[in-house]
Amino acid sequence: MTLAAYRFRAFTIGPDLEPWSFAMQCTNCNESSDPSEENQDAQDWAETHLKTNPDHRNYREHVTRPYRAVPGAWL
Ligand SMILES: [Zn+2]
Repeated sequence: MTLAAYRFRAFTIGPDLEPWSFAMQCTNCNESSDPSEENQDAQDWAETHLKTNPDHRNYREHVTRPYRAVPGAWL
């Protein structure tokens, strides 16, 4: 028979130092830009997409914000 002991630990989840990324998606055809660390790249993609597809007028922005769990005190 094996005995095991478990301990709980507090964690704090907060923003990580990794850069954010931005992408734009056309909700008319679901086509998306590549993720970019520059928000302007996503905006530029939407503008180009609109020029080539004048009836595609609805977009969704996807922002990815990295988070990290930092271990705290043992409980
Ligand atoms: Zn579209």
